[in-house]
Amino acid sequence: MNYDLFSLDTSDAAKLTVLSMGLGQDSTALLYKYAYDAEFRMHYAPNDFLVIFSDTGNEFDETYRHLEHVKAFCKLQDIEFVHLTADMGYHSGDWQSLEHFYNAKSAIGSKAYPKICSQRLKIDPIYRFLEDFLAKRYGVKAGKKKGFRQFAKESGKIRMMIGIAANEEKRMSEASDRKERWYRESIEHCYPLVDLNMNRQGCQEYIRSVGHDVPIPSNCMMCPFLSLEELEYLRRFCPEALEKWVHYESKKLEKWKHLDSVPVVSSSGKTSIVNKNLGVWGKKYLPEVIEEAREKFSKWTDERIREYRMSHGHCVASAY
Ligand code: SF4
Repeated sequence: MNYDLFSLDTSDAAKLTVLSMGLGQDSTALLYKYAYDAEFRMHYAPNDFLVIFSDTGNEFDETYRHLEHVKAFCKLQDIEFVHLTADMGYHSGDWQSLEHFYNAKSAIGSKAYPKICSQRLKIDPIYRFLEDFLAKRYGVKAGKKKGFRQFAKESGKIRMMIGIAANEEKRMSEASDRKERWYRESIEHCYPLVDLNMNRQGCQEYIRSVGHDVPIPSNCMMCPFLSLEELEYLRRFCPEALEKWVHYESKKLEKWKHLDSVPVVSSSGKTSIVNKNLGVWGKKYLPEVIEEAREKFSKWTDERIREYRMSHGHCVASAY
């Protein structure tokens, strides 16, 4: 891949580029691009570079194994890697981990609810940490995000490198569209995989081509946005996690039983009884959906389910 280096305005080169690492295939491909491809490095991260992974506490075992591989790799390559765990103090309140939230609130993530988990478990901890990092490393005065604005004023916007693959452009967003002023003024998003037209398969091929194992796509085991195929993967290969998930859902349904039949008046004045006590899949509860997946994929071999899993799924967080 050749980059048009002459088109770069070097005066505009970010002082700090941060790779938001999900530990899936897309962000892993970006890390290896940075390490092995000098032109990529010069184009996207010519100055300081930091990699941050915010732990949801609910990643798959394979992802945690990949984490160790990536940590060792970064050490070897002299790349600064931060593994944000809850004990570091950047995860807040009931969001110490996905399960901590489910437990503390007798709650459950649902396809029917807004996607706040990625904001609470990934995006918020990353920016809380980053402001402290800016204070320690660059001497800005941290607090209420003022440190970001000071940094941007003195050194230019922080470039957030985000692993969204080509064909997933709809997940991209502009920092300038955000409602928070500090964010608009201090952050810029960059999506190199889209620029380079690297889709998921391209990322997998690139990772192999530089001699590394391809990790599984990263998302929480108890992610409400799983597909039926991924649910079947969980049933076959992570039954304990699935059992716990069913338990969290039933606890939530029990607690909010009074919402099972709520009278709702429509705009035409008609009253109907609506079940507002939703589970992970909405009105269908997990045991039923698990059975549905079991039946639907009964002819799929374990190998086929594993293959599917290797090429599907990611956290729905789109902007860091
Ligand atoms: S993987 Fe799913 S459950 Fe985990 S943070 Fe992302 S959206 Fe939420």
